[in-house]
Amino acid sequence: MTFEQLGLTPTLLKALADSGYTEPTSIQAMAIPEALAGHDLMASAQTGTGKTAAFMLPSLNRICTPSAVRSRGPRVLVLAPTRELATQVADAAKSYGKYIRLSVMTLLGGMSYYKQNQMLAKPIDIMVATPGRLMDQMARGRVDFSRLEVLVLDEADRMLDMGFIDDVRRIAAETPDSRQTLLFSATLDGQIGVLAKQLLKNPKLIQASAITERHEHIEQQLFYSDDYAHKNRMLQHVLRGTELRQAVVFTATKRDADDLAVSLQSEGFSAAALHGDMNQSMRNRTLMNLRRGALKVLVATDVAARGIDVQNISHVINFDLPRDTENYVHRIGRTGRAGASGLAISFVSGKDQNMVRRIERYIGQRIKTHVIPGMEPRKQAVRAGRTEGRGRSSQPNGARPVGKPGFKRHERRPGGASQTGAQSRSQRQNNVVPS
Ligand code: AMP
Repeated sequence: MTFEQLGLTPTLLKALADSGYTEPTSIQAMAIPEALAGHDLMASAQTGTGKTAAFMLPSLNRICTPSAVRSRGPRVLVLAPTRELATQVADAAKSYGKYIRLSVMTLLGGMSYYKQNQMLAKPIDIMVATPGRLMDQMARGRVDFSRLEVLVLDEADRMLDMGFIDDVRRIAAETPDSRQTLLFSATLDGQIGVLAKQLLKNPKLIQASAITERHEHIEQQLFYSDDYAHKNRMLQHVLRGTELRQAVVFTATKRDADDLAVSLQSEGFSAAALHGDMNQSMRNRTLMNLRRGALKVLVATDVAARGIDVQNISHVINFDLPRDTENYVHRIGRTGRAGASGLAISFVSGKDQNMVRRIERYIGQRIKTHVIPGMEPRKQAVRAGRTEGRGRSSQPNGARPVGKPGFKRHERRPGGASQTGAQSRSQRQNNVVPS
Protein backbone atom coordinates (compact mmCIF):
# COMPACT_ATOMS: atom_id res chain seq x y z
CA MET A 1 0.00 0.00 0.00
CA THR A 2 1.29 3.49 -0.87
CA PHE A 3 0.11 6.94 0.19
CA GLU A 4 -0.76 7.61 -3.49
CA GLN A 5 -3.29 4.77 -3.37
CA LEU A 6 -5.07 6.33 -0.40
CA GLY A 7 -6.36 9.23 -2.51
CA LEU A 8 -4.51 12.14 -0.90
CA THR A 9 -3.74 15.30 -2.93
CA PRO A 10 -0.27 15.73 -4.45
CA THR A 11 0.64 18.63 -2.11
CA LEU A 12 0.19 16.33 0.89
CA LEU A 13 2.07 13.50 -0.82
CA LYS A 14 5.00 15.85 -1.37
CA ALA A 15 5.09 16.78 2.33
CA LEU A 16 4.90 13.09 3.30
CA ALA A 17 7.83 12.34 1.03
CA ASP A 18 9.75 15.13 2.81
CA SER A 19 8.90 13.49 6.17
CA GLY A 20 10.58 10.33 4.89
CA TYR A 21 7.44 8.21 5.20
CA THR A 22 7.54 5.50 2.57
CA GLU A 23 4.25 3.75 3.28
CA PRO A 24 1.18 4.26 5.44
CA THR A 25 1.02 2.57 8.84
CA SER A 26 -1.86 0.13 9.31
CA ILE A 27 -4.09 2.66 11.05
CA GLN A 28 -3.41 5.18 8.27
CA ALA A 29 -4.16 2.65 5.54
CA MET A 30 -7.46 1.78 7.23
CA ALA A 31 -8.58 5.21 8.40
CA ILE A 32 -7.57 7.62 5.61
CA PRO A 33 -9.77 6.26 2.77
CA GLU A 34 -12.82 6.08 5.08
CA ALA A 35 -12.26 9.60 6.39
CA LEU A 36 -11.73 10.93 2.84
CA ALA A 37 -15.05 9.35 1.88
CA GLY A 38 -16.64 11.48 4.61
CA HIS A 39 -17.42 8.75 7.15
CA ASP A 40 -17.24 9.20 10.90
CA LEU A 41 -14.54 7.05 12.47
CA MET A 42 -14.25 5.20 15.72
CA ALA A 43 -10.63 4.16 15.76
CA SER A 44 -8.70 2.24 18.35
CA ALA A 45 -5.08 3.37 18.21
CA GLN A 46 -2.41 4.56 20.58
CA THR A 47 0.48 6.93 20.16
CA GLY A 48 3.24 5.37 18.13
CA THR A 49 0.85 3.89 15.55
CA GLY A 50 0.83 6.96 13.30
CA LYS A 51 -2.67 7.95 14.44
CA THR A 52 -2.02 11.69 14.18
CA ALA A 53 -1.45 11.50 10.44
CA ALA A 54 -4.44 9.13 10.19
CA PHE A 55 -6.80 11.94 11.16
CA MET A 56 -4.73 14.95 10.11
CA LEU A 57 -4.09 13.97 6.47
CA PRO A 58 -7.77 13.58 5.50
CA SER A 59 -8.56 16.78 7.43
CA LEU A 60 -5.86 18.67 5.52
CA ASN A 61 -7.12 17.17 2.27
CA ARG A 62 -10.44 18.87 3.01
CA ILE A 63 -8.73 22.20 3.72
CA CYS A 64 -7.34 22.14 0.15
CA THR A 65 -10.88 22.97 -1.05
CA PRO A 66 -11.94 26.45 0.12
CA SER A 67 -14.84 26.73 2.57
CA ALA A 68 -18.15 28.05 1.28
CA VAL A 69 -18.91 29.64 4.67
CA ARG A 70 -17.59 33.17 5.09
CA SER A 71 -17.06 33.72 8.80
CA ARG A 72 -14.44 33.28 11.49
CA GLY A 73 -13.51 30.18 13.50
CA PRO A 74 -12.05 26.75 12.70
CA ARG A 75 -12.86 24.30 9.90
CA VAL A 76 -11.20 21.45 11.80
CA LEU A 77 -11.19 21.18 15.59
CA VAL A 78 -8.93 18.65 17.32
CA LEU A 79 -9.56 18.11 21.04
CA ALA A 80 -6.61 16.61 22.93
CA PRO A 81 -6.21 15.82 26.64
CA THR A 82 -2.91 17.61 27.30
CA ARG A 83 -1.03 20.66 26.13
CA GLU A 84 1.94 18.57 25.05
CA LEU A 85 -0.16 16.33 22.85
CA ALA A 86 -2.04 19.33 21.42
CA THR A 87 1.24 21.05 20.56
CA GLN A 88 2.50 17.93 18.81
CA VAL A 89 -0.71 17.58 16.82
CA ALA A 90 -0.44 21.23 15.73
CA ASP A 91 3.20 20.66 14.72
CA ALA A 92 2.16 17.61 12.71
CA ALA A 93 -0.54 19.66 10.94
CA LYS A 94 2.06 22.30 9.99
CA SER A 95 4.52 19.71 8.82
CA TYR A 96 2.05 17.69 6.69
CA GLY A 97 0.41 20.92 5.47
CA LYS A 98 3.60 22.77 4.64
CA TYR A 99 2.74 23.07 0.93
CA ILE A 100 -0.82 24.23 1.63
CA ARG A 101 -1.93 27.74 2.58
CA LEU A 102 -2.84 26.87 6.13
CA SER A 103 -3.62 28.54 9.43
CA VAL A 104 -3.13 26.38 12.51
CA MET A 105 -3.78 27.57 16.06
CA THR A 106 -3.51 25.98 19.46
CA LEU A 107 -5.95 26.97 22.18
CA LEU A 108 -4.35 25.85 25.43
CA GLY A 109 -4.42 26.80 29.06
CA GLY A 110 -1.42 28.81 30.19
CA MET A 111 -1.30 30.79 26.91
CA SER A 112 -1.99 34.51 26.60
CA TYR A 113 -5.66 35.34 25.99
CA TYR A 114 -4.68 38.34 23.91
CA LYS A 115 -3.09 36.29 21.12
CA GLN A 116 -5.84 33.69 21.26
CA ASN A 117 -8.51 36.37 20.96
CA GLN A 118 -6.81 37.78 17.88
CA MET A 119 -6.69 34.36 16.23
CA LEU A 120 -10.31 33.60 17.17
CA ALA A 121 -11.43 36.77 15.41
CA LYS A 122 -10.24 35.32 12.06
CA PRO A 123 -10.98 32.26 9.95
CA ILE A 124 -8.78 29.33 11.07
CA ASP A 125 -8.17 26.10 9.21
CA ILE A 126 -7.09 23.84 12.08
CA MET A 127 -7.62 24.52 15.77
CA VAL A 128 -6.05 22.16 18.29
CA ALA A 129 -7.42 22.69 21.79
CA THR A 130 -7.52 21.26 25.25
CA PRO A 131 -11.16 21.15 26.42
CA GLY A 132 -10.73 23.44 29.45
CA ARG A 133 -9.46 26.53 27.64
CA LEU A 134 -11.82 26.03 24.73
CA MET A 135 -14.81 25.92 27.11
CA ASP A 136 -13.48 29.04 28.75
CA GLN A 137 -13.25 30.90 25.42
CA MET A 138 -16.67 29.59 24.37
CA ALA A 139 -18.17 30.93 27.60
CA ARG A 140 -16.71 34.34 26.68
CA GLY A 141 -18.52 34.12 23.35
CA ARG A 142 -15.31 34.20 21.33
CA VAL A 143 -15.59 30.92 19.43
CA ASP A 144 -17.57 30.65 16.20
CA PHE A 145 -18.16 27.10 14.96
CA SER A 146 -20.27 28.02 11.92
CA ARG A 147 -17.48 26.90 9.54
CA LEU A 148 -16.66 23.71 11.41
CA GLU A 149 -16.49 20.62 9.20
CA VAL A 150 -14.45 18.09 11.21
CA LEU A 151 -14.29 17.36 14.93
CA VAL A 152 -11.43 15.09 16.05
CA LEU A 153 -11.29 13.59 19.54
CA ASP A 154 -7.69 12.50 20.06
CA GLU A 155 -6.97 10.12 22.95
CA ALA A 156 -10.63 10.22 23.92
CA ASP A 157 -10.03 7.68 26.70
CA ARG A 158 -7.58 10.04 28.35
CA MET A 159 -9.97 12.95 28.11
CA LEU A 160 -12.49 10.74 29.84
CA ASP A 161 -9.99 9.71 32.55
CA MET A 162 -9.08 13.32 33.13
CA GLY A 163 -12.69 14.33 33.70
CA PHE A 164 -13.17 16.24 30.43
CA ILE A 165 -16.06 14.15 29.22
CA ASP A 166 -18.82 16.67 29.93
CA ASP A 167 -16.75 19.43 28.35
CA VAL A 168 -16.27 17.28 25.24
CA ARG A 169 -20.04 16.70 25.03
CA ARG A 170 -20.80 20.38 25.47
CA ILE A 171 -18.24 21.41 22.86
CA ALA A 172 -19.59 18.86 20.37
CA ALA A 173 -23.13 20.12 21.01
CA GLU A 174 -22.07 23.60 19.87
CA THR A 175 -20.69 22.37 16.54
CA PRO A 176 -22.79 21.88 13.38
CA ASP A 177 -24.69 18.60 13.04
CA SER A 178 -23.29 18.23 9.55
CA ARG A 179 -19.75 17.77 10.92
CA GLN A 180 -17.60 14.70 10.42
CA THR A 181 -16.42 13.23 13.74
CA LEU A 182 -13.23 11.21 14.09
CA LEU A 183 -12.72 9.56 17.48
CA PHE A 184 -9.35 8.03 18.35
CA SER A 185 -8.88 6.17 21.61
CA ALA A 186 -6.71 3.43 23.08
CA THR A 187 -9.86 1.60 24.15
CA LEU A 188 -13.31 1.73 22.61
CA ASP A 189 -15.38 0.01 25.26
CA GLY A 190 -17.19 1.24 28.37
CA GLN A 191 -17.73 4.99 28.56
CA ILE A 192 -16.00 5.59 25.23
CA GLY A 193 -18.59 3.39 23.55
CA VAL A 194 -21.36 5.46 25.16
CA LEU A 195 -19.74 8.72 24.07
CA ALA A 196 -19.26 7.41 20.54
CA LYS A 197 -22.96 6.50 20.28
CA GLN A 198 -23.86 10.05 21.27
CA LEU A 199 -21.44 11.87 18.99
CA LEU A 200 -20.81 9.70 15.93
CA LYS A 201 -23.09 8.90 12.99
CA ASN A 202 -22.76 5.40 11.51
CA PRO A 203 -19.07 5.33 12.30
CA LYS A 204 -16.62 3.02 10.59
CA LEU A 205 -14.84 0.95 13.22
CA ILE A 206 -11.08 0.90 12.77
CA GLN A 207 -8.88 -1.23 15.00
CA ALA A 208 -5.12 -1.02 14.88
CA SER A 209 -3.24 -4.16 15.83
CA ALA A 210 -3.48 -5.58 19.35
CA ILE A 211 -1.46 -4.11 22.19
CA THR A 212 1.00 -6.98 22.31
CA GLU A 213 1.75 -6.70 18.63
CA ARG A 214 2.06 -2.95 18.82
CA HIS A 215 4.77 -3.22 21.42
CA GLU A 216 6.70 -6.14 20.12
CA HIS A 217 9.71 -3.99 19.37
CA ILE A 218 9.79 -2.78 22.99
CA GLU A 219 11.56 -5.18 25.33
CA GLN A 220 10.10 -5.07 28.82
CA GLN A 221 12.04 -5.96 31.96
CA LEU A 222 11.36 -6.03 35.72
CA PHE A 223 13.98 -5.35 38.39
CA TYR A 224 13.20 -6.03 42.04
CA SER A 225 14.38 -3.37 44.46
CA ASP A 226 14.76 -3.33 48.23
CA ASP A 227 14.24 0.36 48.84
CA TYR A 228 14.62 3.83 47.40
CA ALA A 229 18.42 3.87 47.63
CA HIS A 230 18.61 0.53 45.80
CA LYS A 231 16.32 1.82 43.03
CA ASN A 232 18.44 4.92 42.75
CA ARG A 233 21.64 2.89 42.35
CA MET A 234 20.05 0.70 39.70
CA LEU A 235 18.67 3.74 37.91
CA GLN A 236 22.06 5.37 37.71
CA HIS A 237 23.59 2.14 36.47
CA VAL A 238 21.00 1.91 33.69
CA LEU A 239 21.42 5.58 32.79
CA ARG A 240 25.17 5.09 32.43
CA GLY A 241 24.68 2.15 30.04
CA THR A 242 26.41 2.66 26.73
CA GLU A 243 23.33 1.79 24.70
CA LEU A 244 21.17 4.41 26.34
CA ARG A 245 20.55 7.38 24.11
CA GLN A 246 17.80 9.27 25.91
CA ALA A 247 15.49 8.12 28.67
CA VAL A 248 12.18 9.02 30.23
CA VAL A 249 11.97 8.10 33.91
CA PHE A 250 8.49 8.00 35.44
CA THR A 251 7.77 8.79 39.05
CA ALA A 252 4.52 8.58 41.00
CA THR A 253 4.31 12.23 42.02
CA LYS A 254 5.39 15.68 40.81
CA ARG A 255 7.46 16.13 43.94
CA ASP A 256 9.28 12.85 43.31
CA ALA A 257 9.95 13.95 39.72
CA ASP A 258 11.52 17.20 40.94
CA ASP A 259 13.57 15.47 43.65
CA LEU A 260 14.83 12.74 41.37
CA ALA A 261 15.76 15.20 38.61
CA VAL A 262 17.77 17.25 41.10
CA SER A 263 19.46 14.16 42.49
CA LEU A 264 20.40 12.98 38.98
CA GLN A 265 21.75 16.41 38.11
CA SER A 266 23.95 16.28 41.18
CA GLU A 267 25.30 12.94 39.89
CA GLY A 268 26.28 14.63 36.64
CA PHE A 269 23.35 13.63 34.39
CA SER A 270 21.70 16.15 32.10
CA ALA A 271 18.29 15.61 33.64
CA ALA A 272 15.14 17.69 34.05
CA ALA A 273 11.65 17.21 35.44
CA LEU A 274 8.38 17.58 33.52
CA HIS A 275 5.07 17.77 35.33
CA GLY A 276 1.82 19.62 35.49
CA ASP A 277 2.90 22.16 38.13
CA MET A 278 5.45 23.70 35.78
CA ASN A 279 4.35 26.65 33.70
CA GLN A 280 3.87 26.20 29.98
CA SER A 281 7.05 27.94 28.88
CA MET A 282 9.15 25.77 31.21
CA ARG A 283 7.44 22.67 29.90
CA ASN A 284 8.02 23.76 26.32
CA ARG A 285 11.66 24.54 27.01
CA THR A 286 12.23 21.16 28.63
CA LEU A 287 10.58 19.32 25.75
CA MET A 288 12.58 21.31 23.22
CA ASN A 289 15.79 20.40 25.05
CA LEU A 290 14.74 16.76 24.98
CA ARG A 291 13.96 16.92 21.26
CA ARG A 292 17.23 18.53 20.32
CA GLY A 293 19.18 16.08 22.46
CA ALA A 294 20.43 18.63 25.00
CA LEU A 295 18.67 16.64 27.71
CA LYS A 296 19.45 12.99 28.27
CA VAL A 297 17.03 12.12 31.04
CA LEU A 298 13.49 13.41 31.44
CA VAL A 299 11.91 12.66 34.81
CA ALA A 300 8.18 12.87 34.31
CA THR A 301 4.75 12.20 35.69
CA ASP A 302 2.10 10.44 33.61
CA VAL A 303 0.01 13.34 32.44
CA ALA A 304 2.94 15.53 31.48
CA ALA A 305 4.57 12.80 29.45
CA ARG A 306 1.58 11.90 27.32
CA GLY A 307 2.16 12.37 23.66
CA ILE A 308 5.92 12.89 23.97
CA ASP A 309 7.22 11.77 20.62
CA VAL A 310 11.01 11.78 20.50
CA GLN A 311 12.49 9.08 18.34
CA ASN A 312 15.81 9.01 20.18
CA ILE A 313 14.28 7.77 23.44
CA SER A 314 15.85 4.34 23.85
CA HIS A 315 14.72 3.65 27.43
CA VAL A 316 11.60 4.16 29.49
CA ILE A 317 12.17 3.54 33.18
CA ASN A 318 9.32 3.15 35.63
CA PHE A 319 10.99 4.33 38.81
CA ASP A 320 7.52 3.88 40.26
CA LEU A 321 4.82 1.79 38.60
CA PRO A 322 1.81 3.67 37.28
CA ARG A 323 -1.53 3.40 39.07
CA ASP A 324 -3.31 1.89 36.10
CA THR A 325 -2.46 -0.56 33.39
CA GLU A 326 -3.25 1.76 30.50
CA ASN A 327 -0.71 4.25 31.73
CA TYR A 328 1.87 1.49 31.71
CA VAL A 329 1.22 0.99 28.01
CA HIS A 330 1.29 4.73 27.35
CA ARG A 331 4.53 5.09 29.26
CA ILE A 332 6.37 2.33 27.45
CA GLY A 333 5.11 3.76 24.16
CA ARG A 334 7.44 6.75 24.69
CA THR A 335 10.20 4.48 23.41
CA GLY A 336 10.19 2.32 20.30
CA ARG A 337 8.88 5.24 18.25
CA ALA A 338 8.34 4.93 14.52
CA GLY A 339 9.60 1.37 14.27
CA ALA A 340 12.78 1.77 16.37
CA SER A 341 13.42 -0.68 19.21
CA GLY A 342 13.21 0.30 22.83
CA LEU A 343 13.66 -1.00 26.32
CA ALA A 344 11.10 -0.49 29.09
CA ILE A 345 12.38 -1.16 32.61
CA SER A 346 10.23 -1.24 35.74
CA PHE A 347 11.61 -1.13 39.27
CA VAL A 348 9.25 -3.01 41.54
CA SER A 349 9.05 -4.32 45.06
CA GLY A 350 6.99 -7.06 46.67
CA LYS A 351 4.06 -4.71 47.19
CA ASP A 352 3.81 -4.10 43.45
CA GLN A 353 3.09 -7.69 42.58
CA ASN A 354 -0.64 -7.27 42.10
CA MET A 355 -0.05 -4.37 39.77
CA VAL A 356 2.56 -6.35 37.84
CA ARG A 357 0.03 -9.15 37.37
CA ARG A 358 -2.63 -6.72 36.19
CA ILE A 359 -0.21 -5.19 33.70
CA GLU A 360 0.78 -8.61 32.41
CA ARG A 361 -2.87 -9.56 31.93
CA TYR A 362 -3.50 -6.31 30.11
CA ILE A 363 -0.56 -6.58 27.74
CA GLY A 364 -1.08 -10.32 27.34
CA GLN A 365 2.49 -11.28 28.11
CA ARG A 366 4.81 -12.01 31.00
CA ILE A 367 7.50 -9.49 31.85
CA LYS A 368 10.74 -11.18 32.73
CA THR A 369 12.62 -10.40 35.91
CA HIS A 370 16.26 -9.35 35.59
CA VAL A 371 19.03 -8.41 37.99
CA ILE A 372 22.01 -6.18 37.67
CA PRO A 373 25.06 -8.19 38.73
CA GLY A 374 26.35 -6.74 42.00
CA MET A 375 23.03 -5.03 42.68
CA GLU A 376 20.86 -8.06 43.39
CA PRO A 377 17.96 -7.39 45.75
CA ARG A 378 18.53 -8.64 49.29
CA LYS A 379 14.88 -9.63 49.61
CA GLN A 380 13.80 -12.57 47.58
CA ALA A 381 11.48 -11.81 44.71
CA VAL A 382 8.56 -14.07 45.58
CA ARG A 383 7.01 -14.65 42.25
CA ALA A 384 5.87 -18.22 42.31
CA GLY A 385 5.99 -19.90 38.97
CA ARG A 386 7.23 -16.89 37.06
CA THR A 387 10.99 -16.98 37.32
CA GLU A 388 12.32 -18.94 34.42
CA GLY A 389 16.00 -18.42 35.27
CA ARG A 390 17.23 -19.77 38.60
CA GLY A 391 20.92 -19.11 38.30
CA ARG A 392 22.89 -17.50 41.08
CA SER A 393 25.72 -16.51 38.84
CA SER A 394 25.50 -13.19 37.17
CA GLN A 395 24.80 -14.22 33.62
CA PRO A 396 23.60 -17.76 33.00
CA ASN A 397 22.30 -18.60 29.57
CA GLY A 398 23.59 -15.45 28.04
CA ALA A 399 22.07 -13.15 30.63
CA ARG A 400 22.96 -9.59 29.96
CA PRO A 401 24.00 -7.16 32.61
CA VAL A 402 21.78 -4.17 32.20
CA GLY A 403 24.55 -1.92 30.97
CA LYS A 404 23.93 -3.74 27.72
CA PRO A 405 20.31 -4.40 28.37
CA GLY A 406 19.29 -6.64 25.53
CA PHE A 407 18.67 -3.59 23.45
CA LYS A 408 18.72 -4.14 19.77
CA ARG A 409 17.92 -1.89 16.89
CA HIS A 410 15.07 -3.25 14.88
CA GLU A 411 16.71 -5.42 12.27
CA ARG A 412 15.03 -7.05 9.36
CA ARG A 413 15.97 -10.55 8.41
CA PRO A 414 16.15 -11.34 4.74
CA GLY A 415 12.83 -13.15 5.03
CA GLY A 416 11.26 -10.03 6.51
CA ALA A 417 10.85 -11.31 10.07
CA SER A 418 12.01 -9.14 12.91
CA GLN A 419 14.92 -10.32 15.01
CA THR A 420 13.49 -8.58 18.00
CA GLY A 421 10.08 -10.22 17.74
CA ALA A 422 8.39 -12.29 20.39
CA GLN A 423 9.86 -15.54 19.19
CA SER A 424 13.49 -14.46 19.38
CA ARG A 425 12.78 -12.91 22.76
CA SER A 426 11.34 -16.09 24.16
CA GLN A 427 14.44 -17.89 23.02
CA ARG A 428 16.57 -15.66 25.17
CA GLN A 429 16.86 -16.97 28.70
CA ASN A 430 18.35 -13.89 30.12
CA ASN A 431 16.73 -13.31 33.45
CA VAL A 432 18.39 -13.98 36.75
CA VAL A 433 16.59 -14.04 40.04
CA PRO A 434 18.62 -14.54 43.16
CA SER A 435 17.37 -17.27 45.43
P1 AMP B 1 1.71 9.02 16.36
O1 AMP B 1 1.15 7.66 16.60
O2 AMP B 1 0.80 9.88 15.55
O3 AMP B 1 2.12 9.65 17.67
O4 AMP B 1 3.03 8.87 15.46
C1 AMP B 1 4.16 8.17 15.89
C2 AMP B 1 5.40 8.47 15.09
O5 AMP B 1 5.32 7.82 13.83
C3 AMP B 1 5.66 9.93 14.77
O6 AMP B 1 7.05 10.14 14.99
C4 AMP B 1 5.35 10.08 13.33
O7 AMP B 1 6.14 11.10 12.73
C5 AMP B 1 5.73 8.72 12.80
N1 AMP B 1 4.95 8.32 11.61
C6 AMP B 1 3.64 8.56 11.36
N2 AMP B 1 3.28 8.00 10.20
C7 AMP B 1 4.38 7.38 9.69
C8 AMP B 1 4.62 6.61 8.51
N3 AMP B 1 3.67 6.35 7.63
N4 AMP B 1 5.88 6.14 8.33
C9 AMP B 1 6.86 6.38 9.24
N5 AMP B 1 6.68 7.09 10.39
C10 AMP B 1 5.44 7.58 10.62
